[in-house]
Amino acid sequence: MTQTETQTDAKIRAVAPGVYQLFLPLPMRPSIVNVYLVRDNDEWALIDTGMHTADSIATLKSALRAVGCQPTSIRTLISTHHHADHFGTSQTYQELTGAEVYLNELELSRVERLQSTERHPEAFAFFQQHGIPLDSPEQLPTPGSFYGSRYMPAKPDHFIRDGESLYVGKRELRVVWTPGHTQGHCCIYLPEDKVMIVGDHLLPKITPHVGVYHAGPDNPLRDFLDSQEKIQGFDVELVLPAHGGVFKDHRYRAKQIIQHHRYRLDEMYDLIRGHAHSAYEVASKVFDLNADLPIFHMFAATFETLAHLHLLMYDGKVKRVEDEPTTRFIA
Ligand SMILES: [Zn+2]
Repeated sequence: MTQTETQTDAKIRAVAPGVYQLFLPLPMRPSIVNVYLVRDNDEWALIDTGMHTADSIATLKSALRAVGCQPTSIRTLISTHHHADHFGTSQTYQELTGAEVYLNELELSRVERLQSTERHPEAFAFFQQHGIPLDSPEQLPTPGSFYGSRYMPAKPDHFIRDGESLYVGKRELRVVWTPGHTQGHCCIYLPEDKVMIVGDHLLPKITPHVGVYHAGPDNPLRDFLDSQEKIQGFDVELVLPAHGGVFKDHRYRAKQIIQHHRYRLDEMYDLIRGHAHSAYEVASKVFDLNADLPIFHMFAATFETLAHLHLLMYDGKVKRVEDEPTTRFIA
C-alpha cells in the first residue's frame, strides 16, 4: 500500500451501515470538517461539502475512490447550512456529480452576503453601535474578499423544509429544521437507523457560534435553545457532527449546551446589573478580549454576547439604552 492510499483510508470510515464519515481539511480552525455519504445500493447522497480548496477536493475524490463511489452515482447533495465549510464546494460537486442540490431557503440571502465584496455602510454602523473600536470601514474585510475562491456555492435546485423526507434509493433522509447557528440550519435524520447528521447544531466538544448580525434575526439564541429542545424529541442512537467525533447521547449534549448558555446569560446579567454596558464592553469582560486577538475573534465574541443580551431583553429582564451612537444594555 502506498502512502497516499494509507492517508486516504484514514480520511473515510464507515460509521453505520452504508453511512460514511469523511474528514476534509480546512485552512483555518477548526482544522477539519466532517462530511457524510449515505448509500443505498448504487445510489448515494453527500451531506455537506467542505471548503473549496484543492486539498479538500483531492481528499474527497480519493475518499470516493477508496469506498467505490462513482461521483455520478451521487444523486443528492444536501448542505446543512450555507457556511463555507458546509456549502463552499457545492458548485464544483454539482458539476462533478450531476447531483440535485438542496439547501434551506432561509440560507439563500446569507449565501449572497458571504460572496459580497461590497462594503455595507450599515454593517459598519452596526459594529460601531455595539461598541467595537473601529475607525474606518476599511478595517473590515468584506466576506467576499475574505473567502475568495474558497467559497464557490451552487445555485440550489431545491429548498428543504422541516419534516420533509428525501430518499437515497429506499432510504429515508428526514429534514429537521434547527435554526440558531444560522437561520436555515437543518439536521438530517435517518429514522430507520436512528442516526442524526447534525451539522454544526450539536457539536461534542465546542458550542457553535450564535450571533446577532446586521440584517440577521434579532433573537437567534432563543431559536438555538428551542432547537436544542427540539432535537431531544428524536430517537437517536448515533450523532454525526460536522466537527469532532461521533457520539451517542444527543439529549445529554443538548442539555449541556443549554446549561452553558444559561450560565453565560447569568454571568452577563450580573455584569450589567445597575451599569449599562455595550455588547463589546460585556464581551471584553466575559471573553477577556485584548488587542492581540485576531479581529474576527473580537467580532464573534461581541455578536455572540449581543445574542445573549437580546435574549435577556426579549425575556423582559434587560433594557436597551440608546446613547447615540452607542447602544447599551442594563438589567
Ligand atoms: Zn457553521
